[in-house]
Amino acid sequence: MPPSRRISARVAAITESATLAVDAKAKALRAAGEPVIGFGAGEPDFPTPDHIVEAAVAACRNPRYHKYTPAGGLPELREAVAAKTKRDSGYDVTAAQVLITNGGKHAVYNTFTTLLDPGDEVLLPAPYWTTYPEPIRLAGGVPVVLPTDEGTGFRVTVDQLEAALTERTKALLFVSPSNPTGAVYPREEVEAIGRWAAERGVWVVTDEIYEHLTYGDHEFSSIATQVPELGDRVVVLNGVAKTYAMTGWRVGWMIGPADLVKAAANLQSHATSNVANVSQAAALAAVSGDLEAVAQMRAAFDRRGRTMHRLLAGIPDVHVLEPQGAFYAFPNLSAYLGREIRGTRPRSTVELCGLLLEAVKVAAVPGEAFDAPGYARLSFALGDDDLGEGCQRIADLLAEAR
Ligand code: PMP
Repeated sequence: MPPSRRISARVAAITESATLAVDAKAKALRAAGEPVIGFGAGEPDFPTPDHIVEAAVAACRNPRYHKYTPAGGLPELREAVAAKTKRDSGYDVTAAQVLITNGGKHAVYNTFTTLLDPGDEVLLPAPYWTTYPEPIRLAGGVPVVLPTDEGTGFRVTVDQLEAALTERTKALLFVSPSNPTGAVYPREEVEAIGRWAAERGVWVVTDEIYEHLTYGDHEFSSIATQVPELGDRVVVLNGVAKTYAMTGWRVGWMIGPADLVKAAANLQSHATSNVANVSQAAALAAVSGDLEAVAQMRAAFDRRGRTMHRLLAGIPDVHVLEPQGAFYAFPNLSAYLGREIRGTRPRSTVELCGLLLEAVKVAAVPGEAFDAPGYARLSFALGDDDLGEGCQRIADLLAEAR
């Protein structure tokens, strides 16, 4: 008999979330008194709005919220998410099509676990959020990576999708606005991609967590609404984290056809049961309320994104697109690889980001985490002073390159 492994092969193949790792390192350095500026985390720097916190406080004091809820979520929250979805993206769904999950991340996991059989392929435009490929692989699926770059605005084309289609293609992962690139697909492209998927019988898993964060002329459009022909082969992923500055509350959801959602709820009933009841009460207040708080955050992110773009684009040989949505800039730093900086020659953006943290105490996530070596992701969800100071430190360090 072969020796048994301590860690299963499936789980041993999973790497730590690079974005969380960079953030943890930056926070640890800061706790040790280092003047670290963190561009790593994908979370708003604002507190959760008061009326949401008050709803949670009231729930804490009400014994009803000390109990389990149905695994699929508080019925009134599922209703409210259906209503919010109709309000914000025009997509008509019933409460039975909504499953409340432990954050958007858990919705990604539930979706792929429920959808995929071993060998099923998922089209995954890159650069992609670091969390997508892992649950695909855990489910036995195969991520089929479709590279994009700044030349096409980091947007995948129908031609690329068509070229990657096989008999095993089950789904396309679509995300706009995008983490990590900040790209937003124009409506015509959303429609063309959706129509292609509908014609080919490919499911679309659309991550709409940044729906309210778009800038300038760029507008979010939901592929589920734009392409009704997708019928029952579309899954919408979303949550309260980004829109309501609620990353720590851990509430997200998936919306899909009732059979898929029921199956995913069965899965969840054995894994985590319901999301924390008090957090669901907070999420109910969030999605039932208006969008005033996100409008204010959006205005701040818009300003900061333009500032960051100006500062990074001013560094010689750095190419960076103006952010269109989400809260990330994604500069191409490849011109600096192999050059000498402070006695070392970073050969990859992993090494370059390591040097940035060590030498000038700036935390950024290397593009390798998103299958995009040569780039780095910098979040602009941080205060204006830190943002300016951090970009200056990067510029000063790169100016030393020979
Ligand atoms: N989708 C995308 C594209 C994200 O960037 C994130 C957060 N980084 C999520 C989903 C999930 O967020 P959460 O699990 O905090 O709800």
